[in-house]
Amino acid sequence: MTLPTADGLRVGIGYDIHRLAEGRELVLGGVSIPSDKGLVGHSDGDVVLHAITDALLGACSLPDIGDLFPDTDPMYKGIDSKILTERAMEKVKAAGFRPGNIDCIVHAEKPKLTAFKKAMAESIASIIRIPVNTVNVKAKTNEGMGPVGSFDAIATTVVATVIPINP
Ligand code: MG
Repeated sequence: MTLPTADGLRVGIGYDIHRLAEGRELVLGGVSIPSDKGLVGHSDGDVVLHAITDALLGACSLPDIGDLFPDTDPMYKGIDSKILTERAMEKVKAAGFRPGNIDCIVHAEKPKLTAFKKAMAESIASIIRIPVNTVNVKAKTNEGMGPVGSFDAIATTVVATVIPINP
């Protein structure tokens, strides 16, 4: 694997949180995960892809996911978040960058995500079109505290790098 040089490397941070409700499918990082509750959102509520997208856009100083795909626009109602991420990646490329690595923390009290971390990393890598060894997914509970701890929400924090296409 060729490691990127530090020349022109940029870092972005992304964060998102969505409410959980019964009768919704839980989709995290493009992976459907068995759960009593799923995430509520104008799109499919994939909080992991939203936070990753914002981190990559932020690293390029581009407008955020809410600016690019407003939740007031009926065009994005129920949309697969993979499509939003893919469209945002076109903006990243047009700005002259390619994704470097992605490091995510999924804050979820339930369900236990250990068994899904590998599938999530593979799914994210394939959506962003980067090698799977440049994507890392961690899962943490909130020790029973706050809306995440009471299984009312799932949040995600992401740090990502982008590398200039033509340094
Ligand atoms: Mg969101």
